[in-house]
Amino acid sequence: MLESAYIKKEAAAAGFDICGITRCRKLAEDETRFRNWLEAGYAAELEYLSRNLDKRFDPSRLVEGAKTVVVCGAGYKNRFSDGYPADCGVKVASYACNRDYHTTIKGMLRRLFEALRERYPEIGGRIFTDSAPLLEKRLAIDAGLGWRGRQSLLITPQFGSYVLLGELVLTDEADEYDTPLENVGCGECRRCADACPNKAILDDRCIDASRCISCATVEGRAADGTKLHGWIFGCDECQSCCPYNKRAPQHRSPLFDPVFDPLSISREEWLATDEETFRRKFGDTPLMRSGIERIKRNLPR
Ligand code: SF4
Ligand code: SF4
Repeated sequence: MLESAYIKKEAAAAGFDICGITRCRKLAEDETRFRNWLEAGYAAELEYLSRNLDKRFDPSRLVEGAKTVVVCGAGYKNRFSDGYPADCGVKVASYACNRDYHTTIKGMLRRLFEALRERYPEIGGRIFTDSAPLLEKRLAIDAGLGWRGRQSLLITPQFGSYVLLGELVLTDEADEYDTPLENVGCGECRRCADACPNKAILDDRCIDASRCISCATVEGRAADGTKLHGWIFGCDECQSCCPYNKRAPQHRSPLFDPVFDPLSISREEWLATDEETFRRKFGDTPLMRSGIERIKRNLPR
C-alpha cells in the first residue's frame, strides 16, 4: 500500500507544484464525448488523435495491473504568458520559449519514480507526459487538481492553465485518493471564448481544431487559410486573458526559465535562419516539433 502523503512529499521534492492521486478506472464518459468530437470533424488534420482510442480511455491497457495514477503539475508562467504588446508582429506561445517540457517533465517524473521505488521496491509502473495516449486532463480533474475550462484546458486554482502535467501510473493501491474539486469552475466567465481571434472555442468546452491557431501552427499546415494573427508557434490568446492565469505566480523552478526571447527576434531574422542555426538556437525547445520551414511559412506577410 502506497502512502499518499509520501508520494506528494516526493513529488514536491522532484520539483512539482501540485500533485493529486486517483484510482485507475475506465473513462467511459470521456470516450463517448471524445468520439462525438472526432465524428463531428473538429479534430481537423490531427489524425493521431484517433489512434489508440482503446488505450486512451483505460490506463490499465497501458500498464498491466495498474491501480493508481499520480498526476503531477508544474506551473510554467513566464514573462511572455501575460500576452505580447499590441504592436508585436511575431508571437510564440509562452511554453514554447522554454526547454521542451516533454524532457523536463519526464526528468522530474523519473526522479519521483526512483524515490518511490526506493521505498517500495516491488512497485511497477510507467511515466507519461502528453506524448502517450493517456487522458491526462480527465485524470487531473479526478485527482482534484482543477476543472476543464471553457477553452478545454485544465484550469487549476493556483496556476490557472499555465501548468504542465505528467503522470505516473502505478501497480499498487494508495492509502488515500483525492476527489474532484467542488464548487469551482468558470461560472459566467467567457473571456477566453471572446478573446479567441478565430472563434475556435465552441460550446460544451470544445475546440474546433480546424480554426485553432495553435493547431495550425504546431501540427498542421498553416497554408489552409486559417488566420494566424502574428502567431508563428502556438497561441496564448485564450489563456493570457483568463483571470486564473492573470493572478497565477511566475514559475518557481529554473527548469522553466525561457531560453530565448521572441521579442528580440525580428521577422527578417526568422526568415534568414537556416536549419543549422535553428537547431543550435532552438534545438531544446518545442519549436523543433514544427521546424524552421513551417515557422517561416507562419510568419506574417
Ligand atoms: S489557442 Fe488561440 S486560436 Fe486556439 S482556441 Fe485558443 S485563442 Fe483560439
Ligand atoms: S477565461 Fe474564464 S471561461 Fe475561460 S477558462 Fe478562464 S475562467 Fe474559464
